[in-house]
Amino acid sequence: MTALDAGTTPAHHALAIIGSGFAGIGAAIRLEKLHGGSVVIYERAETLGGVWRDNDYPGAACDVQSLLYSFSFAPSHRWRHTFARQPEIRAYLERVARENGLLPRLRTGCAVTSLSWDPEAARWTLETERGTSTADHVVLATGSLADPALPAIDGIESFTGPMFHSSQWDHDTDLTGKRVAVVGTGASAIQFVPRIQPVVGSLTLFQRTPPWVMPRNDRPISSTKRALLRALPGYQRALRALIYAQREIKLLAFRHPVLMAIGEKEGRAHLAHAVSDPALREKLTPDYRMGCKRILLSDEYYPALAQPNVNVETVGVARVTADGVVDGNGVAHDVDAIIFGTGFDTSRLPLTDRIFDADGQSMAATWGDSPRAYLGTTVAGFPNLYLMHGPNIALGHTSVIMMFESQLHYVERAMAHAIRSGGTVEPTVEAQADYANDIDALTDGTVWTSGGCSSWYLDPAGRNSNLWPGSILGYRSRAIRFDGARHQTQPAVVSR
Ligand code: NAP
Repeated sequence: MTALDAGTTPAHHALAIIGSGFAGIGAAIRLEKLHGGSVVIYERAETLGGVWRDNDYPGAACDVQSLLYSFSFAPSHRWRHTFARQPEIRAYLERVARENGLLPRLRTGCAVTSLSWDPEAARWTLETERGTSTADHVVLATGSLADPALPAIDGIESFTGPMFHSSQWDHDTDLTGKRVAVVGTGASAIQFVPRIQPVVGSLTLFQRTPPWVMPRNDRPISSTKRALLRALPGYQRALRALIYAQREIKLLAFRHPVLMAIGEKEGRAHLAHAVSDPALREKLTPDYRMGCKRILLSDEYYPALAQPNVNVETVGVARVTADGVVDGNGVAHDVDAIIFGTGFDTSRLPLTDRIFDADGQSMAATWGDSPRAYLGTTVAGFPNLYLMHGPNIALGHTSVIMMFESQLHYVERAMAHAIRSGGTVEPTVEAQADYANDIDALTDGTVWTSGGCSSWYLDPAGRNSNLWPGSILGYRSRAIRFDGARHQTQPAVVSR
Protein backbone atom coordinates (compact mmCIF):
# COMPACT_ATOMS: atom_id res chain seq x y z
CA MET A 1 0.00 0.00 0.00
CA THR A 2 2.93 2.36 -0.52
CA ALA A 3 1.07 4.09 -3.36
CA LEU A 4 -1.42 5.46 -0.82
CA ASP A 5 0.53 8.61 -0.33
CA ALA A 6 -0.65 10.54 -3.34
CA GLY A 7 -0.76 14.30 -3.71
CA THR A 8 0.73 17.14 -1.78
CA THR A 9 -0.46 18.69 1.47
CA PRO A 10 -2.73 21.65 0.78
CA ALA A 11 -2.42 24.60 3.11
CA HIS A 12 -5.92 24.40 4.57
CA HIS A 13 -8.64 21.80 5.10
CA ALA A 14 -12.07 22.06 6.62
CA LEU A 15 -11.36 18.85 8.51
CA ALA A 16 -8.07 17.21 9.48
CA ILE A 17 -8.14 13.70 10.94
CA ILE A 18 -5.10 12.41 12.76
CA GLY A 19 -4.76 8.64 12.66
CA SER A 20 -6.08 6.04 10.23
CA GLY A 21 -7.22 3.17 12.41
CA PHE A 22 -10.87 2.24 12.88
CA ALA A 23 -11.68 5.60 14.51
CA GLY A 24 -10.00 7.73 11.83
CA ILE A 25 -11.44 5.78 8.90
CA GLY A 26 -14.92 5.79 10.45
CA ALA A 27 -14.69 9.53 11.13
CA ALA A 28 -13.63 10.28 7.54
CA ILE A 29 -16.53 8.29 6.10
CA ARG A 30 -19.13 9.79 8.39
CA LEU A 31 -17.93 13.42 8.31
CA GLU A 32 -16.67 13.92 4.79
CA LYS A 33 -19.98 15.16 3.36
CA LEU A 34 -20.31 17.83 6.02
CA HIS A 35 -17.08 19.39 4.79
CA GLY A 36 -17.66 19.08 1.07
CA GLY A 37 -14.77 16.64 0.80
CA SER A 38 -12.17 19.08 2.20
CA VAL A 39 -10.69 16.38 4.40
CA VAL A 40 -7.14 15.18 5.04
CA ILE A 41 -6.08 12.14 7.08
CA TYR A 42 -2.59 12.28 8.59
CA GLU A 43 -0.94 8.96 9.44
CA ARG A 44 2.51 8.66 11.02
CA ALA A 45 3.12 5.14 9.66
CA GLU A 46 3.56 4.14 6.04
CA THR A 47 0.12 2.50 5.71
CA LEU A 48 -3.28 2.84 7.33
CA GLY A 49 -4.58 0.48 9.99
CA GLY A 50 -3.74 1.71 13.50
CA VAL A 51 -3.36 -1.02 16.12
CA TRP A 52 -4.46 -3.61 13.54
CA ARG A 53 -1.45 -2.69 11.41
CA ASP A 54 1.06 -2.54 14.27
CA ASN A 55 0.05 -5.60 16.28
CA ASP A 56 0.98 -8.36 13.86
CA TYR A 57 2.50 -10.70 16.43
CA PRO A 58 1.86 -14.44 15.98
CA GLY A 59 -1.70 -15.27 17.00
CA ALA A 60 -2.94 -11.65 16.95
CA ALA A 61 -6.73 -11.70 16.70
CA CYS A 62 -9.69 -9.81 18.04
CA ASP A 63 -11.40 -11.01 21.19
CA VAL A 64 -14.71 -9.51 20.09
CA GLN A 65 -16.66 -11.34 17.37
CA SER A 66 -16.03 -9.72 14.00
CA LEU A 67 -19.70 -9.43 13.13
CA LEU A 68 -19.75 -6.88 15.95
CA TYR A 69 -16.15 -5.65 15.70
CA SER A 70 -16.81 -3.94 12.35
CA PHE A 71 -18.70 -0.88 11.15
CA SER A 72 -22.49 -1.21 11.08
CA PHE A 73 -22.42 0.75 7.81
CA ALA A 74 -19.82 -1.56 6.24
CA PRO A 75 -20.82 -5.14 7.07
CA SER A 76 -18.55 -7.88 5.74
CA HIS A 77 -19.49 -11.39 4.71
CA ARG A 78 -15.82 -12.37 4.34
CA TRP A 79 -14.87 -13.17 7.96
CA ARG A 80 -13.32 -16.64 8.14
CA HIS A 81 -13.51 -17.04 11.91
CA THR A 82 -15.89 -15.92 14.63
CA PHE A 83 -12.96 -13.93 16.02
CA ALA A 84 -11.06 -12.59 13.00
CA ARG A 85 -7.28 -12.73 12.84
CA GLN A 86 -5.23 -9.56 12.53
CA PRO A 87 -4.54 -9.85 8.75
CA GLU A 88 -8.29 -10.16 8.04
CA ILE A 89 -9.12 -7.12 10.17
CA ARG A 90 -6.36 -5.07 8.59
CA ALA A 91 -7.56 -6.10 5.11
CA TYR A 92 -11.14 -5.15 6.09
CA LEU A 93 -10.07 -1.65 7.12
CA GLU A 94 -8.03 -1.16 3.95
CA ARG A 95 -10.98 -2.33 1.86
CA VAL A 96 -13.44 -0.03 3.64
CA ALA A 97 -11.08 2.93 3.16
CA ARG A 98 -10.59 2.09 -0.52
CA GLU A 99 -14.28 1.50 -1.25
CA ASN A 100 -15.17 4.80 0.37
CA GLY A 101 -12.66 6.73 -1.71
CA LEU A 102 -10.45 7.72 1.22
CA LEU A 103 -7.04 6.80 -0.17
CA PRO A 104 -6.46 10.14 -1.94
CA ARG A 105 -7.15 11.89 1.38
CA LEU A 106 -4.46 9.94 3.22
CA ARG A 107 -1.04 11.43 3.98
CA THR A 108 1.06 8.52 5.22
CA GLY A 109 4.51 8.82 6.78
CA CYS A 110 3.41 12.23 8.03
CA ALA A 111 3.26 12.49 11.82
CA VAL A 112 1.51 15.52 13.27
CA THR A 113 3.91 16.95 15.84
CA SER A 114 1.77 19.68 17.38
CA LEU A 115 -1.57 21.47 17.19
CA SER A 116 -2.20 25.06 18.23
CA TRP A 117 -5.50 26.92 18.35
CA ASP A 118 -5.48 30.29 16.64
CA PRO A 119 -8.41 32.17 18.25
CA GLU A 120 -8.37 35.04 15.76
CA ALA A 121 -8.63 32.89 12.68
CA ALA A 122 -10.73 30.32 14.59
CA ARG A 123 -8.74 27.41 13.21
CA TRP A 124 -6.09 24.92 14.19
CA THR A 125 -2.48 25.14 13.04
CA LEU A 126 -0.96 21.73 12.55
CA GLU A 127 2.78 21.17 12.50
CA THR A 128 3.53 18.00 10.61
CA GLU A 129 6.66 16.22 9.49
CA ARG A 130 6.01 17.70 6.06
CA GLY A 131 5.30 21.27 7.04
CA THR A 132 2.51 23.42 8.42
CA SER A 133 -1.16 23.28 7.55
CA THR A 134 -4.40 24.58 9.02
CA ALA A 135 -7.85 23.13 9.62
CA ASP A 136 -11.22 24.40 10.84
CA HIS A 137 -11.95 21.14 12.67
CA VAL A 138 -9.64 18.39 13.91
CA VAL A 139 -10.53 14.82 14.82
CA LEU A 140 -7.88 13.19 16.98
CA ALA A 141 -8.05 9.49 16.14
CA THR A 142 -4.67 8.47 17.52
CA GLY A 143 -6.08 5.71 19.75
CA SER A 144 -5.15 5.13 23.35
CA LEU A 145 -2.92 2.09 22.88
CA ALA A 146 -0.50 3.57 20.37
CA ASP A 147 2.81 3.77 22.20
CA PRO A 148 4.36 0.55 23.56
CA ALA A 149 5.40 0.50 27.21
CA LEU A 150 8.78 -1.05 27.87
CA PRO A 151 9.28 -1.52 31.61
CA ALA A 152 12.14 0.39 33.23
CA ILE A 153 14.09 -2.70 34.27
CA ASP A 154 17.69 -2.31 35.45
CA GLY A 155 20.22 -3.33 32.83
CA ILE A 156 17.65 -3.68 30.02
CA GLU A 157 20.00 -1.99 27.54
CA SER A 158 22.78 -4.48 28.25
CA PHE A 159 21.00 -7.52 26.79
CA THR A 160 22.87 -8.75 23.71
CA GLY A 161 20.17 -10.89 22.04
CA PRO A 162 16.99 -9.92 20.22
CA MET A 163 14.56 -8.03 22.44
CA PHE A 164 11.27 -6.53 21.29
CA HIS A 165 7.73 -5.51 22.27
CA SER A 166 4.69 -7.47 21.10
CA SER A 167 3.44 -4.50 19.03
CA GLN A 168 6.83 -4.24 17.27
CA TRP A 169 7.32 -7.92 16.61
CA ASP A 170 10.68 -8.72 15.03
CA HIS A 171 9.67 -11.14 12.30
CA ASP A 172 13.34 -11.51 11.26
CA THR A 173 14.16 -13.23 14.54
CA ASP A 174 13.78 -16.99 14.22
CA LEU A 175 12.75 -18.26 17.64
CA THR A 176 13.07 -21.94 16.68
CA GLY A 177 14.86 -23.84 19.42
CA LYS A 178 15.72 -20.61 21.28
CA ARG A 179 15.49 -19.97 25.01
CA VAL A 180 12.92 -17.19 25.24
CA ALA A 181 11.76 -15.00 28.12
CA VAL A 182 8.32 -13.38 27.91
CA VAL A 183 7.43 -10.56 30.30
CA GLY A 184 3.72 -9.89 30.81
CA THR A 185 0.55 -11.99 30.70
CA GLY A 186 -2.03 -9.56 29.26
CA ALA A 187 -4.30 -9.68 26.21
CA SER A 188 -1.38 -9.75 23.74
CA ALA A 189 0.84 -12.28 25.56
CA ILE A 190 -1.96 -14.82 25.94
CA GLN A 191 -2.31 -14.76 22.15
CA PHE A 192 1.35 -15.08 21.13
CA VAL A 193 2.58 -17.43 23.89
CA PRO A 194 0.61 -20.44 22.52
CA ARG A 195 1.98 -19.69 19.03
CA ILE A 196 5.65 -19.58 19.98
CA GLN A 197 5.61 -22.31 22.68
CA PRO A 198 5.69 -25.23 20.20
CA VAL A 199 8.74 -23.85 18.33
CA VAL A 200 10.95 -22.41 21.06
CA GLY A 201 13.43 -24.53 23.00
CA SER A 202 12.28 -23.16 26.34
CA LEU A 203 9.92 -20.39 27.41
CA THR A 204 10.18 -18.59 30.72
CA LEU A 205 7.05 -16.55 31.34
CA PHE A 206 7.35 -13.73 33.87
CA GLN A 207 3.88 -13.20 35.26
CA ARG A 208 3.14 -10.31 37.59
CA THR A 209 -0.61 -10.79 37.92
CA PRO A 210 -2.50 -13.84 36.61
CA PRO A 211 -5.34 -12.87 34.25
CA TRP A 212 -8.81 -14.42 34.31
CA VAL A 213 -8.94 -16.51 31.15
CA MET A 214 -12.22 -17.81 29.74
CA PRO A 215 -13.01 -20.20 26.86
CA ARG A 216 -12.98 -18.47 23.49
CA ASN A 217 -14.96 -20.99 21.43
CA ASP A 218 -13.65 -19.66 18.14
CA ARG A 219 -15.10 -21.38 15.08
CA PRO A 220 -14.31 -21.21 11.37
CA ILE A 221 -17.12 -19.58 9.39
CA SER A 222 -18.04 -22.02 6.62
CA SER A 223 -18.33 -20.98 3.00
CA THR A 224 -22.07 -21.76 3.20
CA LYS A 225 -22.52 -19.40 6.12
CA ARG A 226 -20.45 -16.73 4.36
CA ALA A 227 -22.69 -17.09 1.30
CA LEU A 228 -25.76 -16.70 3.53
CA LEU A 229 -24.29 -13.61 5.17
CA ARG A 230 -23.72 -12.18 1.72
CA ALA A 231 -27.14 -13.04 0.34
CA LEU A 232 -29.15 -12.12 3.42
CA PRO A 233 -28.06 -8.82 4.98
CA GLY A 234 -30.96 -9.15 7.42
CA TYR A 235 -29.49 -12.41 8.70
CA GLN A 236 -26.17 -10.69 9.31
CA ARG A 237 -27.88 -7.81 11.10
CA ALA A 238 -29.80 -10.27 13.29
CA LEU A 239 -26.60 -12.13 14.25
CA ARG A 240 -24.88 -8.85 15.04
CA ALA A 241 -27.81 -7.79 17.21
CA LEU A 242 -27.70 -11.12 19.04
CA ILE A 243 -23.96 -10.84 19.79
CA TYR A 244 -24.49 -7.25 20.87
CA ALA A 245 -27.28 -8.26 23.26
CA GLN A 246 -25.31 -11.21 24.70
CA ARG A 247 -22.37 -8.93 25.46
CA GLU A 248 -24.44 -6.05 26.77
CA ILE A 249 -26.20 -8.35 29.26
CA LYS A 250 -22.80 -9.26 30.72
CA LEU A 251 -22.36 -5.64 31.75
CA LEU A 252 -24.66 -6.44 34.67
CA ALA A 253 -21.89 -8.45 36.31
CA PHE A 254 -19.33 -5.64 35.83
CA ARG A 255 -21.75 -3.28 37.50
CA HIS A 256 -22.79 -5.76 40.22
CA PRO A 257 -19.52 -7.60 40.90
CA VAL A 258 -21.05 -10.27 43.13
CA LEU A 259 -22.45 -11.76 39.91
CA MET A 260 -18.89 -12.30 38.70
CA ALA A 261 -18.77 -15.36 40.98
CA ILE A 262 -20.59 -17.25 38.22
CA GLY A 263 -17.91 -16.43 35.64
CA GLU A 264 -15.12 -17.11 38.12
CA LYS A 265 -16.42 -20.65 38.61
CA GLU A 266 -16.26 -21.19 34.86
CA GLY A 267 -12.79 -19.61 34.72
CA ARG A 268 -11.44 -21.91 37.44
CA ALA A 269 -12.93 -24.93 35.65
CA HIS A 270 -11.31 -23.78 32.39
CA LEU A 271 -7.94 -23.66 34.18
CA ALA A 272 -8.42 -26.99 35.96
CA HIS A 273 -9.36 -28.67 32.69
CA ALA A 274 -6.06 -27.66 31.06
CA VAL A 275 -3.60 -27.68 33.98
CA SER A 276 -3.33 -30.74 36.18
CA ASP A 277 -0.24 -29.64 38.15
CA PRO A 278 -1.62 -28.07 41.39
CA ALA A 279 1.43 -25.83 41.86
CA LEU A 280 1.07 -24.35 38.37
CA ARG A 281 -2.69 -24.04 38.80
CA GLU A 282 -2.12 -22.14 42.02
CA LYS A 283 0.23 -19.71 40.26
CA LEU A 284 -2.31 -19.11 37.50
CA THR A 285 -5.31 -18.55 39.79
CA PRO A 286 -6.23 -14.84 40.11
CA ASP A 287 -6.84 -13.45 43.60
CA TYR A 288 -9.03 -10.54 42.51
CA ARG A 289 -12.57 -10.30 41.20
CA MET A 290 -13.06 -11.27 37.57
CA GLY A 291 -13.54 -8.24 35.30
CA CYS A 292 -11.40 -5.89 37.39
CA LYS A 293 -8.79 -6.33 34.64
CA ARG A 294 -9.78 -7.21 31.09
CA ILE A 295 -11.22 -10.75 30.91
CA LEU A 296 -9.13 -12.69 28.42
CA LEU A 297 -10.39 -15.34 26.01
CA SER A 298 -8.22 -18.29 25.00
CA ASP A 299 -8.53 -22.03 24.58
CA GLU A 300 -4.80 -22.38 23.95
CA TYR A 301 -3.07 -20.35 26.64
CA TYR A 302 -3.42 -22.72 29.60
CA PRO A 303 -2.59 -25.85 27.56
CA ALA A 304 0.58 -24.10 26.30
CA LEU A 305 1.67 -23.26 29.85
CA ALA A 306 1.24 -26.90 30.88
CA GLN A 307 3.90 -28.02 28.36
CA PRO A 308 7.27 -29.22 29.68
CA ASN A 309 9.28 -26.50 27.91
CA VAL A 310 7.41 -23.72 29.79
CA ASN A 311 8.30 -22.29 33.17
CA VAL A 312 6.03 -19.69 34.82
CA GLU A 313 7.89 -17.33 37.16
CA THR A 314 5.91 -15.20 39.59
CA VAL A 315 8.69 -13.54 41.59
CA GLY A 316 9.17 -10.65 39.17
CA VAL A 317 12.08 -9.42 37.08
CA ALA A 318 14.89 -7.85 39.12
CA ARG A 319 17.21 -6.96 36.26
CA VAL A 320 18.35 -7.83 32.78
CA THR A 321 21.95 -8.81 32.04
CA ALA A 322 23.85 -9.37 28.80
CA ASP A 323 22.81 -13.04 28.86
CA GLY A 324 19.33 -13.06 30.33
CA VAL A 325 17.01 -12.16 33.13
CA VAL A 326 17.57 -12.23 36.88
CA ASP A 327 14.34 -12.88 38.75
CA GLY A 328 13.14 -11.40 42.04
CA ASN A 329 14.78 -14.24 43.97
CA GLY A 330 18.15 -13.49 42.38
CA VAL A 331 18.04 -16.56 40.12
CA ALA A 332 19.61 -15.97 36.68
CA HIS A 333 17.69 -17.27 33.66
CA ASP A 334 19.95 -17.40 30.60
CA VAL A 335 17.89 -16.67 27.50
CA ASP A 336 18.52 -15.94 23.81
CA ALA A 337 15.60 -13.53 23.33
CA ILE A 338 13.26 -11.39 25.44
CA ILE A 339 9.73 -10.45 24.36
CA PHE A 340 7.76 -7.81 26.21
CA GLY A 341 3.99 -8.22 26.30
CA THR A 342 3.86 -5.33 28.72
CA GLY A 343 1.12 -3.26 27.18
CA PHE A 344 0.99 0.40 26.25
CA ASP A 345 1.72 3.79 27.71
CA THR A 346 -1.71 4.82 28.96
CA SER A 347 -0.42 7.55 31.28
CA ARG A 348 -1.55 10.16 28.74
CA LEU A 349 -3.44 10.09 25.47
CA PRO A 350 -1.12 10.41 22.46
CA LEU A 351 -0.28 13.96 21.32
CA THR A 352 -2.25 15.64 24.13
CA ASP A 353 0.94 17.16 25.54
CA ARG A 354 1.35 18.95 22.20
CA ILE A 355 -2.18 20.25 21.66
CA PHE A 356 -2.21 23.87 22.77
CA ASP A 357 -5.18 26.09 23.60
CA ALA A 358 -5.42 29.83 22.84
CA ASP A 359 -3.17 30.61 25.82
CA GLY A 360 -0.54 28.08 24.81
CA GLN A 361 -1.43 25.60 27.55
CA SER A 362 -1.37 21.95 26.52
CA MET A 363 -4.38 19.68 26.89
CA ALA A 364 -2.29 17.32 29.06
CA ALA A 365 -1.39 20.21 31.40
CA THR A 366 -5.04 21.32 31.54
CA TRP A 367 -6.04 17.80 32.54
CA GLY A 368 -3.37 17.12 35.13
CA ASP A 369 -3.46 13.47 36.15
CA SER A 370 -7.13 12.85 35.35
CA PRO A 371 -8.44 13.61 31.86
CA ARG A 372 -12.01 14.81 31.41
CA ALA A 373 -13.97 15.39 28.23
CA TYR A 374 -17.63 15.95 27.48
CA LEU A 375 -18.97 12.63 26.15
CA GLY A 376 -15.30 11.57 26.14
CA THR A 377 -14.98 13.65 22.97
CA THR A 378 -14.80 17.44 23.37
CA VAL A 379 -12.81 19.50 25.87
CA ALA A 380 -13.61 22.98 27.20
CA GLY A 381 -11.00 25.46 25.98
CA PHE A 382 -10.18 23.38 22.89
CA PRO A 383 -12.76 24.39 20.26
CA ASN A 384 -13.52 22.35 17.13
CA LEU A 385 -11.43 19.44 18.40
CA TYR A 386 -12.90 15.97 18.78
CA LEU A 387 -11.16 13.08 20.50
CA MET A 388 -12.02 9.61 19.29
CA HIS A 389 -11.01 7.15 21.99
CA GLY A 390 -10.81 10.05 24.42
CA PRO A 391 -11.34 9.72 28.19
CA ASN A 392 -13.92 7.05 29.18
CA ILE A 393 -14.37 5.65 25.69
CA ALA A 394 -12.61 2.27 26.13
CA LEU A 395 -14.85 -0.67 26.98
CA GLY A 396 -14.49 -3.69 29.21
CA HIS A 397 -17.27 -5.80 27.76
CA THR A 398 -17.99 -5.21 24.09
CA SER A 399 -16.94 -3.70 20.75
CA VAL A 400 -15.31 -0.28 20.87
CA ILE A 401 -16.30 0.24 17.23
CA MET A 402 -19.86 0.78 18.50
CA MET A 403 -18.57 3.53 20.79
CA PHE A 404 -16.79 5.20 17.87
CA GLU A 405 -19.98 5.14 15.81
CA SER A 406 -21.91 6.59 18.75
CA GLN A 407 -19.31 9.34 19.20
CA LEU A 408 -19.59 10.17 15.53
CA HIS A 409 -23.31 10.93 15.94
CA TYR A 410 -22.28 13.58 18.43
CA VAL A 411 -19.30 14.87 16.44
CA GLU A 412 -21.43 15.24 13.32
CA ARG A 413 -24.05 17.28 15.17
CA ALA A 414 -21.48 19.41 17.01
CA MET A 415 -19.65 20.23 13.77
CA ALA A 416 -22.91 21.03 12.00
CA HIS A 417 -23.79 23.37 14.89
CA ALA A 418 -20.46 25.19 14.51
CA ILE A 419 -20.84 25.46 10.74
CA ARG A 420 -24.41 26.79 11.08
CA SER A 421 -23.35 29.37 13.64
CA GLY A 422 -20.39 30.45 11.52
CA GLY A 423 -18.03 29.93 14.46
CA THR A 424 -16.68 27.29 16.76
CA VAL A 425 -18.03 24.70 19.16
CA GLU A 426 -16.81 23.44 22.52
CA PRO A 427 -18.53 22.18 25.66
CA THR A 428 -19.13 24.56 28.54
CA VAL A 429 -16.98 24.03 31.63
CA GLU A 430 -20.15 23.09 33.54
CA ALA A 431 -21.24 20.51 30.98
CA GLN A 432 -17.82 18.88 31.11
CA ALA A 433 -17.77 18.86 34.92
CA ASP A 434 -21.31 17.42 35.10
CA TYR A 435 -20.35 14.69 32.68
CA ALA A 436 -17.26 13.79 34.76
CA ASN A 437 -19.50 13.61 37.84
CA ASP A 438 -21.84 11.27 35.96
CA ILE A 439 -18.88 9.06 35.06
CA ASP A 440 -17.76 8.93 38.69
CA ALA A 441 -21.28 8.05 39.85
CA LEU A 442 -21.65 5.37 37.18
CA THR A 443 -18.25 3.88 38.07
CA ASP A 444 -18.97 3.76 41.78
CA GLY A 445 -19.40 0.18 43.01
CA THR A 446 -18.39 -1.43 39.71
CA VAL A 447 -15.82 -4.19 39.52
CA TRP A 448 -13.29 -1.76 38.05
CA THR A 449 -12.98 0.11 41.33
CA SER A 450 -13.98 -2.58 43.84
CA GLY A 451 -12.45 -5.69 42.28
CA GLY A 452 -9.16 -5.62 44.19
CA CYS A 453 -6.71 -5.29 41.30
CA SER A 454 -4.59 -2.55 39.79
CA SER A 455 -5.35 -1.82 36.15
CA TRP A 456 -4.72 0.80 33.47
CA TYR A 457 -8.42 1.65 33.64
CA LEU A 458 -7.69 3.81 36.70
CA ASP A 459 -5.50 6.89 36.30
CA PRO A 460 -2.82 8.19 38.72
CA ALA A 461 -5.59 10.03 40.59
CA GLY A 462 -7.29 6.66 41.16
CA ARG A 463 -10.20 7.75 38.93
CA ASN A 464 -11.68 5.76 36.11
CA SER A 465 -10.86 8.03 33.19
CA ASN A 466 -10.48 5.25 30.64
CA LEU A 467 -13.60 3.09 30.56
CA TRP A 468 -17.14 4.00 29.69
CA PRO A 469 -18.80 2.35 32.69
CA GLY A 470 -22.28 1.89 31.21
CA SER A 471 -24.03 0.30 28.26
CA ILE A 472 -23.55 1.22 24.63
CA LEU A 473 -27.22 2.17 24.51
CA GLY A 474 -26.72 4.44 27.51
CA TYR A 475 -23.83 6.22 25.83
CA ARG A 476 -25.56 6.43 22.48
CA SER A 477 -28.71 7.94 23.95
CA ARG A 478 -26.55 10.79 25.28
CA ALA A 479 -24.44 11.16 22.14
CA ILE A 480 -27.32 11.25 19.73
CA ARG A 481 -28.94 14.35 21.25
CA PHE A 482 -26.90 17.49 20.68
CA ASP A 483 -27.66 20.01 23.42
CA GLY A 484 -26.75 23.52 22.28
CA ALA A 485 -27.15 24.84 25.83
CA ARG A 486 -24.27 22.63 26.98
CA HIS A 487 -21.95 24.13 24.37
CA GLN A 488 -20.57 27.52 23.53
CA THR A 489 -19.64 29.03 20.20
CA GLN A 490 -17.23 31.83 19.32
CA PRO A 491 -17.30 33.66 16.01
CA ALA A 492 -14.06 34.11 14.08
CA VAL A 493 -12.91 37.72 14.71
CA VAL A 494 -10.61 38.11 11.73
CA SER A 495 -11.76 37.43 8.20
CA ARG A 496 -9.75 34.69 6.49
P1 NAP B 1 -1.87 -5.38 29.04
O1 NAP B 1 -3.16 -6.06 28.93
O2 NAP B 1 -1.79 -4.02 29.64
O3 NAP B 1 -0.89 -6.37 29.76
C1 NAP B 1 0.41 -6.01 30.11
C2 NAP B 1 1.02 -7.14 30.88
O4 NAP B 1 2.36 -6.81 31.18
C3 NAP B 1 0.32 -7.41 32.20
O5 NAP B 1 0.36 -8.77 32.45
C4 NAP B 1 1.20 -6.62 33.17
O6 NAP B 1 1.13 -7.12 34.49
C5 NAP B 1 2.55 -6.90 32.58
N1 NAP B 1 3.56 -5.93 32.97
C6 NAP B 1 3.55 -4.60 32.71
N2 NAP B 1 4.66 -4.03 33.20
C7 NAP B 1 5.38 -5.03 33.78
C8 NAP B 1 6.62 -5.07 34.46
N3 NAP B 1 7.33 -3.95 34.66
N4 NAP B 1 7.04 -6.27 34.93
C9 NAP B 1 6.30 -7.37 34.74
N5 NAP B 1 5.13 -7.40 34.10
C10 NAP B 1 4.67 -6.23 33.62
O7 NAP B 1 -1.16 -5.20 27.60
P2 NAP B 1 -1.51 -5.96 26.26
O8 NAP B 1 -1.57 -7.40 26.51
O9 NAP B 1 -0.61 -5.49 25.21
O10 NAP B 1 -2.96 -5.44 25.97
C11 NAP B 1 -3.24 -4.06 26.06
C12 NAP B 1 -4.66 -3.80 25.64
O11 NAP B 1 -4.73 -4.02 24.26
C13 NAP B 1 -5.70 -4.69 26.25
O12 NAP B 1 -6.17 -4.26 27.49
C14 NAP B 1 -6.77 -4.63 25.21
O13 NAP B 1 -7.57 -3.48 25.42
C15 NAP B 1 -5.99 -4.47 23.94
N6 NAP B 1 -5.86 -5.74 23.22
C16 NAP B 1 -6.98 -6.20 22.64
C17 NAP B 1 -6.92 -7.38 21.97
C18 NAP B 1 -8.17 -7.86 21.34
O14 NAP B 1 -8.28 -9.02 21.09
N7 NAP B 1 -9.15 -7.01 21.05
C19 NAP B 1 -5.76 -8.12 21.89
C20 NAP B 1 -4.62 -7.61 22.48
C21 NAP B 1 -4.68 -6.41 23.15
P3 NAP B 1 0.04 -6.55 35.52
O15 NAP B 1 -1.25 -7.21 35.12
O16 NAP B 1 0.52 -6.95 36.84
O17 NAP B 1 0.01 -5.07 35.33
